[in-house]
Amino acid sequence: MAQTSIEWTELTWNPVTGCTKISAGCKFCYAEVMSKRLKAMGVDKYKDGFKKVRIHEDALRIPYTWKKSKVVFVNSMSDLFHKDVPLEFIQRVFQVMRDNGQHVFQVLTKRADRLAEISDQLSWSHNIWMGVSVEDERVTDRIDFLRQSGARVKFLSCEPLIGPLPNLNLKEIDWVIVGGESGHNPRPMNSDWVLDIQEQCQQANVAFFFKQWGGKNKKKAGRELNGKTYDEMPEIELQKLV
Ligand code: SF4
Repeated sequence: MAQTSIEWTELTWNPVTGCTKISAGCKFCYAEVMSKRLKAMGVDKYKDGFKKVRIHEDALRIPYTWKKSKVVFVNSMSDLFHKDVPLEFIQRVFQVMRDNGQHVFQVLTKRADRLAEISDQLSWSHNIWMGVSVEDERVTDRIDFLRQSGARVKFLSCEPLIGPLPNLNLKEIDWVIVGGESGHNPRPMNSDWVLDIQEQCQQANVAFFFKQWGGKNKKKAGRELNGKTYDEMPEIELQKLV
């Protein structure tokens, strides 16, 4: 596990590493940059490079060792629903999450079609939050696939937001995260797009989390929207989990 600076979670847990790009949101993939860096540093887990998807059996033990309840982002360095991750391994990851009902596990994918396809074969529990990335209108079908899954808490990660999303169908969606791209050459995020999503969430009574404006200097750009910080999350009822 690793501490993380991602605002909407506490820890990252990576039973899978490596991935391949699938849509425009992947252009400046953070996991790719980090994998290259870790490989150059000689970290064994990343020795095969980013494009080789690897499963890590030993990582399955880690959640059993955490003492206090955690909020955990699963697979920040990959996509659990990548075609190269065997169904049997995804099932084992789900079993680990189910066994550890004292923690919240946030799983995020861009392979929402595979999620819908195998959802019935996964062992869902209340502490598994399932999300899909929605960076622009071209990929909103992922939300329909997410709705077909067995997850109790369903969320959208609109980051990096690279286009407007004026007609979001938020039925059965519990949480929306929005963020702009950062780095050397970030694609711009229009403030109207963000305000529009915030308004749609408000109208649909969906928790809204504004992560960052992004840009070349993301610290300076900050994360205030209309002079306010939006840190809403779905209710975490840890004692009722599983
Ligand atoms: S799906 Fe995620 S991890 Fe995979 S390439 Fe795209 S952004 Fe990177």
